[in-house]
Amino acid sequence: MTTQPPANPPLSILMYHQIGRYPRPDAHRALFCHIDRFKDQLRYLKWMGFDVINLSEARARLFEGKPMTRRSVVITVDDGYDDFREHAWPALQAEGLSATVYLVSSLLGQQASWLTDWAHQPGLMDAAAVRQLHREGCDFGSHAVSHPRLSRLNAGQQRSEIFDSKKALEDLLGAEVPDFCYPYGDYSLRARDLVEEAGYRTATTCIRGAAHFSDNPFELTRKAISYGDNLLGFAWKLHAKQARKGQAALPDQA
Ligand SMILES: [Zn+2]
Repeated sequence: MTTQPPANPPLSILMYHQIGRYPRPDAHRALFCHIDRFKDQLRYLKWMGFDVINLSEARARLFEGKPMTRRSVVITVDDGYDDFREHAWPALQAEGLSATVYLVSSLLGQQASWLTDWAHQPGLMDAAAVRQLHREGCDFGSHAVSHPRLSRLNAGQQRSEIFDSKKALEDLLGAEVPDFCYPYGDYSLRARDLVEEAGYRTATTCIRGAAHFSDNPFELTRKAISYGDNLLGFAWKLHAKQARKGQAALPDQA
């Protein structure tokens, strides 16, 4: 009779966007988190003994056989808003934690111009801020050159969004940029393969679920933390919402 090895503890990749002192938004609630709740969430992760790791470590544990003895979490923050420097990064540092921030390489120091229907397009960190936070231990990944819907682009445009953003950010940081995040979670199999060809080591989607159940390092699942998530809701997402759910690769349209 064979004995099954114990299942690995799950690994969750959390997804945030704007983190700050925001009133309750009327719409786009999954794109905001109040800083006080964010601080509570960080303290909860530490109190519960989660391993807060980066994506290279997550890849090693998920796909390369590195032992995973504790429940693990990666904190990802999309778009690189100014508020990260002001609010989230000091809160992470206070707890001795880090995160991966995905940057839109052509829009550093500008506005989130892809949010075309927003009355106020929030500001994005500039190059000096990114370099400073990188020196302080923050991880940065690519969120493409211009935050496009990749499946709507032709192969040449996809290639330049994926390759050129990596090069630009590596030049800025003087370090490898191994992580990519599909804007809007929109990707095709061709875009995914270009991400791998460009030399990235991971890519995150907006498919829900524990990353533990991702089947490909270039299609990592995540859990969006929403403005409405109190600590109980946060804990529920961490501990219970593991199943995979949501739109995967789209057909290329050009
Ligand atoms: Zn984005």
